[in-house]
Amino acid sequence: MDDAYTEYENGYVLTEGDRILAVGSGQLPPADRVVDCRGGILLPGFVNLHCHASMVPFRTMGDDCPDRLRRFLFPLENEALTPELVYLGAKYGIGEMLLSGITTFVDMYYFEEEVARACLETGMQGFLGETVISQKTPDSEGDEGGLLLTEDFLRKYAVSDRIHSIVAPHGTTTVSESALRSCGELANRYDALLTLHVSEMDYEMDYFRQQGLTPIGYLDRLSLLSDRLLAAHCIHLSEEDLLRMQKTGVRMAHCIGSNAKAGKGIAPVRDAAAHGIPFGFGTDGPSSGNTLSLFDQMRLLAVSQKTAYHDRSLFPAREIVRAATRGGAEALGMKDAGVLRPGFQADLVLVSVDRPALYPLYNPYSALVYGACAADVSLVMTGGVLRVRDGKLVNANIFSLRNDLEAALPPFRRAAEKYADTI
Ligand SMILES: [Zn+2]
Repeated sequence: MDDAYTEYENGYVLTEGDRILAVGSGQLPPADRVVDCRGGILLPGFVNLHCHASMVPFRTMGDDCPDRLRRFLFPLENEALTPELVYLGAKYGIGEMLLSGITTFVDMYYFEEEVARACLETGMQGFLGETVISQKTPDSEGDEGGLLLTEDFLRKYAVSDRIHSIVAPHGTTTVSESALRSCGELANRYDALLTLHVSEMDYEMDYFRQQGLTPIGYLDRLSLLSDRLLAAHCIHLSEEDLLRMQKTGVRMAHCIGSNAKAGKGIAPVRDAAAHGIPFGFGTDGPSSGNTLSLFDQMRLLAVSQKTAYHDRSLFPAREIVRAATRGGAEALGMKDAGVLRPGFQADLVLVSVDRPALYPLYNPYSALVYGACAADVSLVMTGGVLRVRDGKLVNANIFSLRNDLEAALPPFRRAAEKYADTI
């Protein structure tokens, strides 16, 4: 993933502490420990730019139900979400992400402290933000509470290596104008990333259209467009929106799996890329995109953009792999991640090519985008420590994480029963 897309046949990566020390091929340099990665493709860890990992309990609930967010997701969250569920959901979701090769993710939810705890226990790198929304939430009465929790969180993790606290207002129509402005001020004051759902919902587009605006135009009016803004979804963008994003350095989290499943539309990623807007992939939450795997997002980007524009040459596979790794790191402003290069973070993924569908292999990027899936990930290192080996978590067991979550779920399931005709 360097500028020349260098490939090392029979290559090695030497790490020390949490950094890459050397990359090359041929004779191995002296090392305390050697892990044999033969028969696989080693690449930088995947970066997931948009997630609500703790929403695992909602998975497969009302997947085909229109307006599920307002019909049952918001009410059920307020009724049944507890810090314990957020923690156990995050542990499971992070376990699932590590197993699919994701080494860094962006998360916005409630009780975000619990997500941070899950990250620290698992070695996942997290850009985490408490959701600020102008309505009652599981952990506050409205946006004032969310802003206070956000500032506490920003202070607490100001110097953490693996946790980056961010500011996460929910969306352009779900947060009041004054709270959105406060979010922008907090992000500036603490030099933090700002992220929110943008140009995603039909009702959001209608709302701004009636005022002769677009969501991006509105954010511009609030002076929130900048290179610290990571805009999630961005399905509906006008040419003027693209120019504004280009001029101000806004980054984009493309969530094709979630967007397409909900029938919301296909984001103009071709045009965003042509404008030089940095972008990477987001899985969205486990009940929006269903899998927490960037393999699915990579393939969906290829098929959706090529189909939408009737052009097979759009987004060659290696550009897609770049977006999932280095592109994601760049969208987060990380200058030392997403590339196998000395001095960079030792966050690595080994993808096995043993499965029948991955043979023969002329082009590793094609194999990763068109043939591979999360189950092919055999080894993952984050911060220089092995987290996945032989396709299994090293320090945990995904089935015991599931059992722990399952044991805490009965009150949530009972609360969900009243929506039985919808879900
Ligand atoms: Zn989302």
